[in-house]
Amino acid sequence: VPKNPAIDALHREAAERRDVIGLAGGLPASELLPKEAMAEALAAAAQTDDALQYGWPEGAARLRGWIAGRLGARGLAVDPDAVIVTAGAQQALSLIAAFLPSGSTIGVGDATYPAAIAAFEAAGLEPTATRDAAAHYLVTGVSNPRGVAIDSTAALASGRPVIADEAYAELRFDGEVPAPLAADAADRVWHVGTASKVLSPGLRVGWLIPPAHAREAILQSKEAADLQTGSLAQAALVRLLDGLDYDETVARARRFYAERAGILVEALERHLPDARFTAPEGGFSVWVELEEPGDDVALLEAAVAQGVSFDPGSMFRPPADRARAPLAFRLSFSASGPEDLVEGSRRLARVLDRRRPGVRIPA
Ligand code: PMP
Repeated sequence: VPKNPAIDALHREAAERRDVIGLAGGLPASELLPKEAMAEALAAAAQTDDALQYGWPEGAARLRGWIAGRLGARGLAVDPDAVIVTAGAQQALSLIAAFLPSGSTIGVGDATYPAAIAAFEAAGLEPTATRDAAAHYLVTGVSNPRGVAIDSTAALASGRPVIADEAYAELRFDGEVPAPLAADAADRVWHVGTASKVLSPGLRVGWLIPPAHAREAILQSKEAADLQTGSLAQAALVRLLDGLDYDETVARARRFYAERAGILVEALERHLPDARFTAPEGGFSVWVELEEPGDDVALLEAAVAQGVSFDPGSMFRPPADRARAPLAFRLSFSASGPEDLVEGSRRLARVLDRRRPGVRIPA
């Protein structure tokens, strides 16, 4: 199933227009991108052969060492040589998807990260909400789109392969980052992480720790895809991390996003009292569900006309459920300032109000 072109066109229009408050996309806040430090790290890296040369497909040893060290501190003992640096977590998902038997099912729950669904479908897998799937995909610690920890017990107990995507795990507002799932079942948990959410998505650096039996096959398909993750990005990241208190960087990001989340939640409670949502425990977004079914693309169109955008819920549904799932949408608080979060909620309330004449939503 290709990306819905109508949603794509609306998102592009919304991003172009200065009068539209963008609550779609789930981008990190520009204020938190380490621009100065990155400029220095890139400039210094560019003076070295390593950064400008080809490297091995598994990635730079020092970066793999840093990743293994962070995971070790969280209870996952991992050899740096087990780590594969990928072009973002997204490439890790594509590589795993291509490894799993084509035609088999993958359990993704009733809503999950859209580009994971796309990666699974591109590899001939069937993403499904059914629990009895041949493999499972979990966004651990902080799920996308719900923004809360999801229970991994059933997936782990299934004995099937589990993809543990930690994209937002460090960004739990309470700082209680759970131990990596691979610590419990390293022989079938595929661990996925990324530098995108805390440092920079433009860097395109993520990582994958496959079960040991799959490492060689994954390295071969990584090499066939792109030889290696960009040396310059990896070298710059290593230098950036050298000069950075990473724990403090994460702590600052948590505080920053927690504040924005609180503002959006309060605005939604006030302006959209009929909407159902859970206050996020971390990450970038709030997942909102409405009581009644409906056309979420038409809703997005109306919203963009009113000057606000969001990610329609259908993007997050397993394909078979798209038509019948309840109307939902994801609102990202990460990249909008307080005023926009409040005004965006007001505009959304107006859009929803118009759908249901007779139901008055307080202004
Ligand atoms: N997994 C999840 C759950 C995500 O939300 C994202 C980014 N939106 C990714 C993976 C991909 O991240 P990246 O490729 O930038 O590392």
